[in-house]
Amino acid sequence: MLISFLVFIGWLFLLGIVVLLVLMAKTLQIEEEASKMQRLFFPIVPLLIVSTAILTFDFPFRVYLLGFGELLVVIIFLLLVIPNGEVVTQDKSFETRQLDERDIMFARANYQKEDENYRDYYSRNPQQKEMDDNIRSMPNLCSPGTFTYNPLDAAVADAAFTFLGDIRHLAEGEINTQKLEVEPKKMSLRLKGLSQYYGAKLVGITEVKPYHYYSHRGRHPEVYGEIVEKHDKYAIVFAVEMDYEIMKGAPQIQVVAESSRQYIEGAKIGMILAYYIRQLGYHARNHMDGNYLVVAPLLAQDAGLGEIGRMGILVTEEFGPRIRLGVVTTDLPLVQDKPVEFGVQNFCIMCKKCAQTCPSQAIPHGDKEEIDKVRRWKINQENCYTFWRRAGTDCGICLSTCPYSKPDSILHKFVRFSIRRSQFARKTFLFLDDYIYGKRPLSLKKPKWMEL
Ligand code: SF4
Ligand code: SF4
Repeated sequence: MLISFLVFIGWLFLLGIVVLLVLMAKTLQIEEEASKMQRLFFPIVPLLIVSTAILTFDFPFRVYLLGFGELLVVIIFLLLVIPNGEVVTQDKSFETRQLDERDIMFARANYQKEDENYRDYYSRNPQQKEMDDNIRSMPNLCSPGTFTYNPLDAAVADAAFTFLGDIRHLAEGEINTQKLEVEPKKMSLRLKGLSQYYGAKLVGITEVKPYHYYSHRGRHPEVYGEIVEKHDKYAIVFAVEMDYEIMKGAPQIQVVAESSRQYIEGAKIGMILAYYIRQLGYHARNHMDGNYLVVAPLLAQDAGLGEIGRMGILVTEEFGPRIRLGVVTTDLPLVQDKPVEFGVQNFCIMCKKCAQTCPSQAIPHGDKEEIDKVRRWKINQENCYTFWRRAGTDCGICLSTCPYSKPDSILHKFVRFSIRRSQFARKTFLFLDDYIYGKRPLSLKKPKWMEL
């Protein structure tokens, strides 16, 4: 009786494993990683040998071995789903000083020798001058002389960024003088719904703190050095998803076409939200590519969209760092969301895949450092941007490498569920990610229309 029961359970487990392998194979096929399917079948051979061997044993060893094998499967499953291991939380960022936009690499890259902003910046930061001059002497993104350059494809991203520049002035606008009274809870849900209706994949709301705003503007010569004085009370923060297949081609030219496309999506959603809120009689400003007054990843973290990971940008549970962020700040009364923690800090301590695959060594391999009273991983933005100028694109290798960047399918949902709570799951799935997918994805396939 006992042996029949154990054999029955054993068959059920084997059936479960076969279903799991089929699901994994299907997932790889959908992700266009069919070439990696063979790696799934190596574990099947030892599994079948062990199962057959067990059945050849005589009673009572057969019972013991079957029982032991099944107990092992149950224990492994429980270890994957029951909370275990120390949880490392991220430092709260409320004590950080305000960042100055004049210091960020995108601003510095635009200072020209004959301009006043150049003289002002390097009189205060002479130690940066030589390095920045070197960077500025390199070809620009999407330009001849970079190793991904192709005039037909580069013009796609150039056109998108020109368009973004042309609509930048629409970020602020007239406010309807007829103010409509709103109920904050309902309005928050309505704005989240509207964002999703226009294509946002994740949306959250947070109260804006001083450290969310830049202290001074720096990115455009006409506003260089302006103090950012007007602070809105709330921020609606949303994320759009970058295409997984295209991002696997990082750092090729299709990646910058994709990121500029998603900047446009983010700008579009932000514009609609801001126009809508102003129509209701409240102030609203769209913070979009090239026109941020706020530090979007910090707001996104506080609005519950994700955590800041080793690569120094937001990692979401659903899409990893494979996103672009948009922000609308407003004085419309809203209800804020809570920050989330889903195991990124623990996972990043072990993983390090972004640091290992970064071609410019911009991501640290070691521990967090204390920066402005907050412990975080320090990114070398100069190294990163220098590689962008060499490649001619915004690289994206780290984004495509991150295990969290996998599509949000059933199987990956289970992995995310487990690594949120279990250290055993983090170790197991990191091993499996390496084993099945390798250190980094690589696809030279462009979208079909780009091949024409
Ligand atoms: S974008 Fe590229 S160069 Fe920059 S940190 Fe990521 S992998 Fe490194
Ligand atoms: S690749 Fe690994 S270490 Fe880097 S951010 Fe993603 S999970 Fe963290």
